[in-house]
Amino acid sequence: MPLLTDVAQPLRSLQTHQWVKLICGASYQDVTTIRSLATLYTLAGVDCIDVAADPAVVTVARQGIAAAAQGSTPPWLMISLNDSDDLHFRKASFDPTHCPPDCPRPCVSLCPTAAIRFPAEGTQGVIPELCYGCGRCLAICPIGHIVAQPHQTLPETLPGEFWQQVDALEIHTQTGRLAEFQRLWQRLQPYLSGLKLISISCPDHDQVIPYLEDLYRTISPLPQPLIWQTDGRPMSGDLGKGTTHATLRLAQKILAAQLPGYVQLAGGTNGYTVTKIEELGLRPQAGSPGAPPRPGVAGIAYGSYARHLVITPGGDRPEAVVSAASLEKARWLVSQLKYNNN
Ligand code: SF4
Ligand code: SF4
Repeated sequence: MPLLTDVAQPLRSLQTHQWVKLICGASYQDVTTIRSLATLYTLAGVDCIDVAADPAVVTVARQGIAAAAQGSTPPWLMISLNDSDDLHFRKASFDPTHCPPDCPRPCVSLCPTAAIRFPAEGTQGVIPELCYGCGRCLAICPIGHIVAQPHQTLPETLPGEFWQQVDALEIHTQTGRLAEFQRLWQRLQPYLSGLKLISISCPDHDQVIPYLEDLYRTISPLPQPLIWQTDGRPMSGDLGKGTTHATLRLAQKILAAQLPGYVQLAGGTNGYTVTKIEELGLRPQAGSPGAPPRPGVAGIAYGSYARHLVITPGGDRPEAVVSAASLEKARWLVSQLKYNNN
């Protein structure tokens, strides 16, 4: 374990249980908003920004980080891949010409990114780059007219220069998919040596611990630090305080199993999450230089909640705007897990 003074700031944040990640969305491709989010949350002090595995998205995220970092240590840029079908890797679609004319269009008002449009009668539908697959429109449509289209990006389809811009990789998997995970892990071999961090994101299941143990055996030995992302209630942090409980329950399971690696919350995290971590005694005090990591939650990833906090409705679509007011909100969220937050 290197001394804290020898390691990059993001890694030091992990080691001292102060790691904060912004999730822009594994399917979200609105480059204007992603650039602004990257600038805002870099200024706010996040350690990592997680974006879709898309060259255009990575380019604008880098631009957003560079606009803010200006000499200070930039956050790591992470991309997410899936080993097979996954809620985070889908987009809604439907044919608006088949919607009943008297439908009050609840899908439009419910969509958090204003991805559903009816600008002229019977036209448009879902704008793909704005959809991040949250599924709210699917659930609300009274005739079940909206479908989810899954997608998977294979690592070898991404250009070599793309991988040079990426610091970290997250793999989304689920209990019971060992063969799919192993296939993706094999495909990733040519790209792993250039990465500073690997994260594995998995939702809860009654067999999740044996599954994660199998994954650990598959990826060992791993030269990079490893994060277990506890994917509680995906893409729901903006829906209310209680959404944070599922990720905490899974974190408690993984900590109790003493799996090697850092435990980081996601899926339903919000402004209430740090309070709950502290109430449950899952937040150890900051580690001392050179000390091995102590058990506890090492970090939090914020997705829907972080975006909702700084998105300003404007025109016919909401956008993240870099302003003093939005920066204040972003700093408030990020600083909750930082020990020097006063
Ligand atoms: S509600 Fe969610 S799934 Fe539906 S279009 Fe909007 S972002 Fe996509
Ligand atoms: S809720 Fe369903 S039927 Fe109504 S406008 Fe939306 S997609 Fe069409």
